[in-house]
Parts: sequence; structure tokens; C-alpha cells
Amino acid sequence: MKLYNSLTKRVDTFKENESGKIAMYTCGPTVYHFAHIGNLRSYLMEDVLEKLLRYSGYDVKRVMNITDVGHLSSDADTGEDKMLKGAKREHKTIMEIAKFYTDAFFNDCKDLNIKTPDVVEPATNCIDEFIHMIEVLLEKGYAYQAGENVYFDTSKLKEYYVFGNQSEDELMVGVRDDVTEDSNKKNKNDFVLWFTKSKFEDQALKWDSPWGVGYPGWHIECSCISIKHLGEYMDIHCGGVDNMFPHHTNEIAQSEAFLGHKWCNFWFHVHHLNDETGKMSKSKGEFLTVSLLKEKGYDPLAYRFFALQSHYRKPLTFSYEGLDQAALTYKKLKNKIAAIDVAGDIDAAKVTEYHDKFAEAVGNDVNTAMGITMIYDVLKDDELNGATKLAVLNDFDKVLGLNLTVKEEMETSSEDAELVAYVEAKIEERKNAKKAKDFQLADAIRNELADKGIIIEDTREGVKWHRA
Ligand SMILES: [Zn+2]
Repeated sequence: MKLYNSLTKRVDTFKENESGKIAMYTCGPTVYHFAHIGNLRSYLMEDVLEKLLRYSGYDVKRVMNITDVGHLSSDADTGEDKMLKGAKREHKTIMEIAKFYTDAFFNDCKDLNIKTPDVVEPATNCIDEFIHMIEVLLEKGYAYQAGENVYFDTSKLKEYYVFGNQSEDELMVGVRDDVTEDSNKKNKNDFVLWFTKSKFEDQALKWDSPWGVGYPGWHIECSCISIKHLGEYMDIHCGGVDNMFPHHTNEIAQSEAFLGHKWCNFWFHVHHLNDETGKMSKSKGEFLTVSLLKEKGYDPLAYRFFALQSHYRKPLTFSYEGLDQAALTYKKLKNKIAAIDVAGDIDAAKVTEYHDKFAEAVGNDVNTAMGITMIYDVLKDDELNGATKLAVLNDFDKVLGLNLTVKEEMETSSEDAELVAYVEAKIEERKNAKKAKDFQLADAIRNELADKGIIIEDTREGVKWHRA
């Protein structure tokens, strides 16, 4: 398998630390708001990567954190606390906000066929581990206390900009530094490990620590949680490109200073989903969520299909025209598969042959577009009988997650739901018309429904309806 590695900046042949086993980590969501479909593009492509590794025979253990404390509105430890902001906005406690948006995130994942990682750990579960790691960093001289906070000292590292040749300005693009520089820092890239005294006096979640009552910085979370569950050596660390700096850069700094050796070999970064205004964000333009797409009548898997059509290392621009196109192609594809005549016995040799071909093609740096092309190759292959075609497509779908062979019962039921909603709205309208003594309108509504084959009856229990 070949994989682009942000550390070496080239496509490398993938090599795991322990034969056949993969330790994989994903930076999880900060649960203060809904995820937009741009955030979800990363989770979706990481899901494909995980499934592809399993498909290729690896035993994968994947860990993800949930950030429910300590993430400020700028990734560089400045600005407002994101969780507190969410709690204030919705007049809820921080833990209520965390619970609500964690559930919402996993519901979105479910809709998009994204598997839940083997371990999901909220940051607030691991305060003791954070404190321990910070103590070790202080002992080793990689950290210092200033202004009652604890900071990581980036000047103690041999190399800080591990992701290489980008200029500092480019790296800083991800950092919305709208707040004055923290004068406690010895070097401008130093970052907070533990906040004790800060401008957030109203921070709701605080814990005792050797440095006073406070809360952890954001970056320390991922270092601790990954080492806790995956040990000292990691194979693949995933995230969006905007995590590369400062978040992942700081994770590497802390983890390697703490461990005293190289930590993770492969860094997998998914590029942005843009909208017409540029980079998608929660604050500008339409707030594009999975629920919004569903409300507009899209199958969430049409979005998955849309994302899989392009490569994860290219920025992708979202438009409704693009999504409509993908939804149509996806629907036609599913109809073609549904029409396959499932005759004959499965040709196991052919299934294996296609399995290996698919693993190689998609295994070339997660080439999902090639995976989709291969679906059409299978459909066109005259040497395969119907049963074998379906078996091959089911096998591909272990990676693609497109419910390729699942028949559309959903569609009828969503049509039914639409009809029910329509009829009920009309009955309500008619009731109001009668109340207003507009019997002409009431009759017109009854006739309109009758034209559509819906008969309504006024009964003692209220209005009832049935199909003609
Ligand atoms: Zn992280």
C-alpha cells in the first residue's frame, strides 16, 4: 500500500511498526457546535483509509479524542474558549453542550456510514494523564511556568517545523491570531500546556494540579490520549490540513520530548472542502450540515459519493449543482446494481481477483475515484454472472461504504413521509379555512386532494384520510 506522508512530503510505501498491526489516531471534534460537511470530509476520508487498511489485511486499532475542554477559538491558544462560547450561546452547561454535540457528531457519522473508532475518549476523562505528561516535560526541561500557566518551550527542540518547507507565513494561515500576543511566552511558538491563571476566570471546568486549579491546553490532549491507548509508537496520525500547524506540530513536539524518540511515522492530512466563499466555516455563508442536506431531500450517502469522487489531497469545492450531479450519478448506479439478475453461483476466484485489483488501485494513496471507476468495470464485465458481480460489489463496499447493494426501501418510505406531511398540511389548511368560514377554500382543498387520489372524511374523531 502507498500513502502520501506529510512528514516526507511524498508518496511512500506504507510500513507499519509491528507486522500486520496498525495503531491509528484521529483528532476528534471539538463538541461545541454541529460539524459542517467540510469537517466531515476529513472524517469520511479517514474512514475510507481505515477500512482500506482492514481490507488489505491489517489489524487496525483506531483511537479518537473528543475535545470537551480547552480548545480556544484560535488554534494558537488565544481567543475565547469554544466550549464556553457554545454553552453561553445556548444557555446550557458545558457538559450538556458536550453531550449534545457529541451525539450529533456520531449521528452525522452514522448517516455517512463512518465507522466509530475502536476507542473514543473525551479529554475530560484524562486529566491525570495530562498532568503526568506535563510534569515529565517540566522535569526534562521542555516546559516552564510563567504568569501561572505552564508552557512548552519550543526553543529546546532540534526541529520545530516538522512539516517542512512551508514558510512560517504559510503555516500561520491556520492561526487566526486576532488576540494580542501572550507576553508570558519566551518564544513566539511556545504554547500552553496548562492554564491556571488566564483571562478566562469564568472557565467552568477546572481541576486541581501541581500548578494550581486550571485546565489543560488543547494540544496535550491528543498526545496523551493516543499514547495512553496506542503506546509509544504510532503508525498513522490523521486530521485535516488545517490541523498541521500549530496542532500537529505541537503534538509532535510534546510527544517526542516526552517519549525521547520518534513517535509517529505517517501523517495523513485531508484537504479542505471549500464553498463559493472560500474555506467553509461555521460563521460565514450557509452553515452546511448533514441535517441541512437531509432537510433539502439529499441522501447523506450522495454526499459521501460526492466526496469519494475526488482525491483527499485536493481541495474540493462544494456546490449544490455538484451535489445534484453526484446524487443523480449515485442513484443511477444503484438502480443499475438493483437490476442485476442474481443468477448463477459466485465465482470465488473472480471475487479474489477483483479484491486484489481493488486493494492495489485504491491502495495507491487512497484513490477513491479509481474505486468508483472499478464499480463500472465490474458492471460491464461480461465474464461475471450476476451473483459474482454482487459479491464483488459487496466486497468493494467494505471500503467505499456506499450501500451499493442495499435496495432502496428508504426511498418509498421517504416518499410516504412526504405524502403524509403534504396531506396533513392540507388538512390543517382546510381546518383553518373552515374556522374562518371560507368554505369555498375548504372545498377547493378537498378537491385538490381528491385529484391526487386522497379522500378525506370528517368524523367525530376529527379528519381522517385514505387513498382512493
Ligand atoms: Zn489532535
